[in-house]
Amino acid sequence: MKNKIRTRIAPSPTGWLHIGTARTALFNYIFAKQNDGDFILRIEDTDKERSKIEYEENIYEALAWLGLSYTEVYRQSERTAIYKDYLKKMVDDGFAYISDEEPKEEGQRSSVIRFKNPNKKVTFTDLIRGDISFDTTDLGDFVIAKDLDTPLYHLAVVVDDHEMAISHVIRGEDHISNTPRQILIGEAIGANIPIYAHIPLILAPDRSKLSKRHGAVAITEYQNDGYLKEAVVNFMALLGWSPQAGPQATNDEIFSLEDLINIFSLENVNKSGAIFNVDKLNWLNHEHLIKLPPETLTSKIVEYLPEIKNIPETTINKIIALILEKINTWSDLEKLIEQKEFDYFFQSPQNITKDDLKTTEYLPQTIELLQSITEENFTADRIKEVIWDFATEKGRGDVLWPMRFALTGKPKSPDPFTVAEILGKMETVKRLNFALEI
Ligand code: GLU
Repeated sequence: MKNKIRTRIAPSPTGWLHIGTARTALFNYIFAKQNDGDFILRIEDTDKERSKIEYEENIYEALAWLGLSYTEVYRQSERTAIYKDYLKKMVDDGFAYISDEEPKEEGQRSSVIRFKNPNKKVTFTDLIRGDISFDTTDLGDFVIAKDLDTPLYHLAVVVDDHEMAISHVIRGEDHISNTPRQILIGEAIGANIPIYAHIPLILAPDRSKLSKRHGAVAITEYQNDGYLKEAVVNFMALLGWSPQAGPQATNDEIFSLEDLINIFSLENVNKSGAIFNVDKLNWLNHEHLIKLPPETLTSKIVEYLPEIKNIPETTINKIIALILEKINTWSDLEKLIEQKEFDYFFQSPQNITKDDLKTTEYLPQTIELLQSITEENFTADRIKEVIWDFATEKGRGDVLWPMRFALTGKPKSPDPFTVAEILGKMETVKRLNFALEI
């Protein structure tokens, strides 16, 4: 029987879950799902000084938000006894030794555990980068633990990957140089060496390493900034993986997590760095936003704009359509509401001046033309049909500007036909008459 596919994400809780780590988690999750395997979370909290419980909680929270569920979770800080057994055995078997060190300062620890390097060439086949060879001689007898109770990163990772029967190690390419050490330790403890896949780093648009100075990097920041998890997942998948290659090649770019499980392939992950493009994320967010079920959209928009509830349903849907044209994220909506962008749908504009309207010369005829449309035919298309020739004849600015300003009280807004339809015939005529009296 083929061994079960088991992957893991192994974040260190030393900061808010970074988009790069989350993308690694996503690739591991998808690969496990595609192969009926297990995806495991391992908290690498051996660095007691830098590890913080709030960061650990942030890892759980962010993975849960993204929908990347795992079947097992481990904390390295609870596994000291296991590492100790391996360390003891390595020392007993001659694969490691306790080495007395020159103390750098008075009273400093003066011994460590070093790996006895066999000084050989290590070659592994990376699923993304092909064969990679290292001569490990340069590494010397590297340190694997401070003492039996204090293992360092390489030892803990190798023991855990072995104990947890990890079949595939999918991780950032910054770990390539760690791999030969880890293979040597793995061989020393008699582990099955996992299959490696090193994925490209995420780069800022200037090709430098993506960091805080380029904007949000923590997953929960995106969540708080009003992005949809569907968009963040989709965006992360496209960072390094290309849907345009492979057996299921497609030009489509909008994918749900389910879709990704169907079409993602580790072999089509690029070797070169993945450039982070926030415009792309915003576009994807818009695409996923408009795909949300109508009930979800309505209830979310009601949260932001409670006054919308007092409006007849058909009108609500028209306003929602308009809102969706104008936003990529929920925080865009928040900003528009702060700027009182949609106020004119709920109350007639106040404090319009003659100057605002520029001219009222054609308002009486505009009103007359609008009056000729029946209430049930009062649609943007029909209104445009009725007004257009008149506006063209008299000057579009002179006809349409005062009409739009009278309806919205704003120098910028959707076209007057759409606004008039949403307001309805009665309200439209009322507002135009009101403007006429100014
Ligand atoms: N704890 C390591 C990190 O945060 C990951 C180790 C690994 O994936 O092997 O980068």
